[in-house]
Amino acid sequence: MLVVMNSNATEIEIKRVALFLESKGFEARISHGEARTIVHAIGIIEVDQRDFELLSGVSEVIKVTTSYKLAARVAQGRDTVVEINGIKFGDKYTGLIAGPCTIESYDQMDATAQELSESNVKIIRGGAFKPRTSPYAFQGLGEEGLKIIRSVADNHHMAVTSEIMDTSQLDIFMRYVDVLQIGARNMQNFNLLKEVGKIHKPVILKRGLSATYEEWLMSAEYIMAGGNNQVILCERGIRTFEKFTRNTLDLASIPVVKKLSHLPIIVDPSHATGLRDKVEPMSRAAVAAGCDGLIIEVHHNPEVAVCDGAQSLYPWQYDLLYKQIKQIAPVVGKEIV
Ligand code: PEP
Ligand code: MN
Repeated sequence: MLVVMNSNATEIEIKRVALFLESKGFEARISHGEARTIVHAIGIIEVDQRDFELLSGVSEVIKVTTSYKLAARVAQGRDTVVEINGIKFGDKYTGLIAGPCTIESYDQMDATAQELSESNVKIIRGGAFKPRTSPYAFQGLGEEGLKIIRSVADNHHMAVTSEIMDTSQLDIFMRYVDVLQIGARNMQNFNLLKEVGKIHKPVILKRGLSATYEEWLMSAEYIMAGGNNQVILCERGIRTFEKFTRNTLDLASIPVVKKLSHLPIIVDPSHATGLRDKVEPMSRAAVAAGCDGLIIEVHHNPEVAVCDGAQSLYPWQYDLLYKQIKQIAPVVGKEIV
């Protein structure tokens, strides 16, 4: 339930609503928007809505019928915008993230970052803990990898995003990483979602391999219920019968999620297609569909990449793509810096 306050409601009236909700057993969370303040009633408790409508300063009471409450579009009057190192995701902004699949060495990261900085990349990606299908495949450099990406990013004035796989890694991620990624395989790792809900760093929540929109938004709700509102959803393709591409990129998720939620939605065309030559057209399509950002795998020398070389762009390809999507974005009322 949402209690929407009048635009001229006083702090005392807002506080009174919150206390009344708490007396009924809800957790009350106040969110001050530009136009109005909303008091969110968190909890599933049967109450008579009219009791709240009559409180002084209250404009209206909205019953949220979806299973996700904080992530629901009605929960706030505007789109959530997440800002990282000057790059914005959401509303009219399309943010870009690029970098290799995995951190291999200082030189590999530095060479890639150098090239990417020439294409105005401000957020670099790179996995240090890799969720590999085979236990015999390269598992990532671990903490050593995070140290490398942090140091390279600092040298190039970039922010860092990397995938966290387990709650036990939280301490080191807090130290080295600016944006935590929850991978497709961990979208329903509820303990991990609860823990990242308690931190004050943005989280990229990838869509599970066969997750419905509702399941995905419920996972976002786990993070938000803990108090962390900086959630960026990431469409990375889903499992279908088609084997030609690595996954099937569900571009319809962009308008659907935008209708259901105020959270930004970005697209990962690299894991969605698995093929370098499909990454460029699908990135253009995602921007044209109004996505709030892209996360793209780029390696300074994809032929020797330890992981996902076939889907990694050459830096020159990324640069060309950047120039193209910068032109496409304004057509759909968006901006790429
Ligand atoms: C990744 O981004 O490195 C990754 C493993 O992606 P996903 O979780 O989408 O498979
Ligand atoms: Mn990868």
